[in-house]
Amino acid sequence: MPRTGRVLLIYTGGTIGMGRNPATDALEPLDFNHLVQRMPELQAIPVGIDVYQFPEPIDSSDMSPRLWARIVEIIVGGYDRYDGFVILHGTDTMAFTASALSFMLENLTKPVILTGSQLPINQLRTDGKENLITSIEIAAAHHTDGTPRVPEVCIYFSGKLLRGNRSTKINSEGFNAFDSFNFPPLAEAGVSIHYRDDLILHPDYSRPMTPHFVMDTNVVVFTLFPGIQEEMVRHLLEAPHLRGIVMRTYGSGNAPQQPWLMQALTEATRRGIVIINITQCAAGPVEMARYSGGYLLKNAGVISGYDGTVECAIAKLMHLLGHTTDTDLIRERMNRPLRGEITCGAQS
Ligand code: ASP
Repeated sequence: MPRTGRVLLIYTGGTIGMGRNPATDALEPLDFNHLVQRMPELQAIPVGIDVYQFPEPIDSSDMSPRLWARIVEIIVGGYDRYDGFVILHGTDTMAFTASALSFMLENLTKPVILTGSQLPINQLRTDGKENLITSIEIAAAHHTDGTPRVPEVCIYFSGKLLRGNRSTKINSEGFNAFDSFNFPPLAEAGVSIHYRDDLILHPDYSRPMTPHFVMDTNVVVFTLFPGIQEEMVRHLLEAPHLRGIVMRTYGSGNAPQQPWLMQALTEATRRGIVIINITQCAAGPVEMARYSGGYLLKNAGVISGYDGTVECAIAKLMHLLGHTTDTDLIRERMNRPLRGEITCGAQS
């Protein structure tokens, strides 16, 4: 596909474009024009930039699968007209959106870079300008044959380009707000931008990008803790319409060995509920065969989430449940990387 020299900036909201409400003094999303007026540097970037603004910019805590589908529609609508897409998004749910978009955009052949900031762009010490300018540069970067440098959904923040579905928000205060503990950055931006071409996904340029819009939200994340009670767990597992669970376990995928828990989980998986095992640790994989508590989970039909994040597991589950009722197929897809989101070890 020929290059167009243009990037589409999709403004959804978030701190980057927020200002203070004079009545409450709380930050709230502002019109994008307000943001552009404060950034004359945008005119100096040697890339054509068009802007799509959400009619009502949001704090990203209001992000939803319906809005993800809207973002996908916008990307599909401009797919041939732009070399890449930059999504301005609040940091709070950015890792969920990045994970969701990675599954919703199958065989993505263009960069989709999410970014935002910890301080609004109109504040003197803002981190938003560098994040935005470098994201645009990455979205426009290409190889000599014209193919994009990073045809993936990524988060760019504070000097690091991370695979979107490997990312997690780690800091509510520091500028270094994101990390991807189980996968190295795809690029690091210092004086120049160093790309790890060996890590970046290679799409099939002879095939079209296929968008997916349906996400099934009959899912829940639940965290194990010492003292967890049977009554609460049974209520959760018996919730009407429940189809999928991301269970946050201990260490390498371990759980208490109480018979009631294993029995409740076994009954749930037999009823067709898909349960994914993700560790509460920030780094390292699930290896269910390592301790007997994990082994019992495996026998109960719980699937390893390998070294994936909670954000990614829930997004992948919503995506797969949205496309099939065949739980064997969902289990098979959960057990392999679809967009570079997990590393499948032999032990898991
Ligand atoms: N609450 C904001 C949001 O996620 C925080 C941010 O943008 O950093 O929209």
